[in-house]
Amino acid sequence: MREYPKPIQNLVNLFTYLPGVGPKTALRYVFYLLKQPKGTIESMARALTELQLAVTSCTVCKTYTTQDMCEICRDSKRDRTVICAVAHPRDIGTIESAGFRGRYHVLGGTLSPIEGITPDTLEINSLLKRLTDEPAVSEVVLAFNPDIEGEATIMYISKLLKERHLKASRLARGLPAGSDLEFADEVTLGDALNRRWEV
Ligand SMILES: [Zn+2]
Repeated sequence: MREYPKPIQNLVNLFTYLPGVGPKTALRYVFYLLKQPKGTIESMARALTELQLAVTSCTVCKTYTTQDMCEICRDSKRDRTVICAVAHPRDIGTIESAGFRGRYHVLGGTLSPIEGITPDTLEINSLLKRLTDEPAVSEVVLAFNPDIEGEATIMYISKLLKERHLKASRLARGLPAGSDLEFADEVTLGDALNRRWEV
């Protein structure tokens, strides 16, 4: 790609950090921004700064929040006996739409030794600590993508839960293997959740 003035080049380089954005798309974004009113760019810059300043992790479930504790953890109407462990914060929205009304724990990914994602790099210890702190919890639903990493994570955590005499369950089959929870429709996911079985 030919060299553009430095401010353009800088932003192009930054955009290519985003998933699925290559240099050409990044350049298209930058040219688009150059045509926008000054206020729009200022608002975007402010939103980006605020993202880092205001968004933090929930002290309980580790999802994104702007407070100490997220809305779901603060909701007293939630079922306190079941926790759904998910890989990413975005999975909470997916499981919510399927009708789950317990609480969550966000691991931050699934086990993948090749990519250096080991149990220590995930929020597994905080999940175990939480289970000790919250004796009302009797079941953990392990809701990960039906792929190799998801399976490995289910195996690993279910063993730890069994040692603690807690019920570990997984979504019923029906989700296409290797697929992403994000793309499962609500009905299929709701069904997989209702028919979840013990690991
Ligand atoms: Zn929370």
